[in-house]
Amino acid sequence: MAHSTSSLAIPFLDLKAQQARIAHALRPRLDAVLAHCQFVLGPEVAELEGRLAAYCGARHCVGVSSGTDALQIAMMAEGIGPGDAVFLPAFTYTATAEVPLVLGATPVFVDVDPRTFQIDPAHLAARVAEVRAAGRLRPRALVGVDLFGQPADWPALNRIAEAEDLFTLDDCAQSFGAVLHGARLGTQAQATATSFFPSKPLGAYGDGGALFTDDDSRAALYRSLRSHGEGTTRYQVLRTGMNGRLDTVQAAVLLAKLDVFDDELAVRERIAGVYDRRLGNAVTTPARVPDSANAWAVYSVLLLDGADRARVQAALRDAGVPSAIYYPLPLHRQPAYAAHHDGAALPVSDDLSARILALPIHPDLSMADAERVCDAMLATLG
Ligand SMILES: *Cc1c(COP(=O)(O)O)cnc(C)c1O
Repeated sequence: MAHSTSSLAIPFLDLKAQQARIAHALRPRLDAVLAHCQFVLGPEVAELEGRLAAYCGARHCVGVSSGTDALQIAMMAEGIGPGDAVFLPAFTYTATAEVPLVLGATPVFVDVDPRTFQIDPAHLAARVAEVRAAGRLRPRALVGVDLFGQPADWPALNRIAEAEDLFTLDDCAQSFGAVLHGARLGTQAQATATSFFPSKPLGAYGDGGALFTDDDSRAALYRSLRSHGEGTTRYQVLRTGMNGRLDTVQAAVLLAKLDVFDDELAVRERIAGVYDRRLGNAVTTPARVPDSANAWAVYSVLLLDGADRARVQAALRDAGVPSAIYYPLPLHRQPAYAAHHDGAALPVSDDLSARILALPIHPDLSMADAERVCDAMLATLG
């Protein structure tokens, strides 16, 4: 069959191409693990923790079993539980709200900015005041999410958290590598959690995550909590913890990927530039947070409404261009969480869920394919 490259379907994510690109570094790393057989918390985990802490300028990095477990360990360390209000955006991945509920705390959903999609500091302040006035829950923590690769407005969030005495946790699962006011994310909040799920900007070959903090006592607690609350010896149990360790094979994969991570971030930025330039007059392209660099986990545009989105998504599919919807339902409308929502209106989260659409962006997407994505978009948008 005669075909040109341009007739092939574009992958939304291409982990096989990335693996071929880094194979020369990956194989020796994996062979070393198979030779020493220290599969849990082996030497690669400590090496990775050191490199990641240096990369983002945090004093401590603690490798854990997933981004979700990173959030859970950070909240367990603060003793967050029943009666506590944990403020978080309604427009995010499910894990952000799942963790406070698992611990018996109550998520309080906050709306997001319509242009950057990040948690709205003004609405956060209003929501804290509402919870205080109602008097049923104790305002306890803020989980700010750096959504889609872009930093949240941490200076504004921190001002509110300080005034309200909230523990600050940065859910940086999608945005490790992003920069805010000259600093890599990892030090904006009292603790930062990230994820190494394979599709995240720095992804492993399975589940993994990490916690970052500048606080020595928090770091020590995180190390204890990830290993069943152990003390100075493995069989001394000081507190109720969990099995939340990062395994060595994942650390070895991440060490190989870290060497090319900055180059990959640069490719993502170039693709975003192509999309901005070619699509900016036809759809609403994502607004940038001022003085930041974006890790571009997701590049989402806004269509006119749900029907327009369905039509565009079908036309893209016919042209071999994949797309995805993050997120089709805001968390306050999820069946599992709706009963925990106090009923506050969250109109921006509702609106974004109805008409947002993510286009492919990954370090093995060629510029020619990025142009093809734009061609297909412009053809259907007329
Ligand atoms: C992926 C993600 C998580 C959870 O990370 P896992 O490693 O999959 O557990 C948490 N929060 C956000 C915003 C995420 O995107």
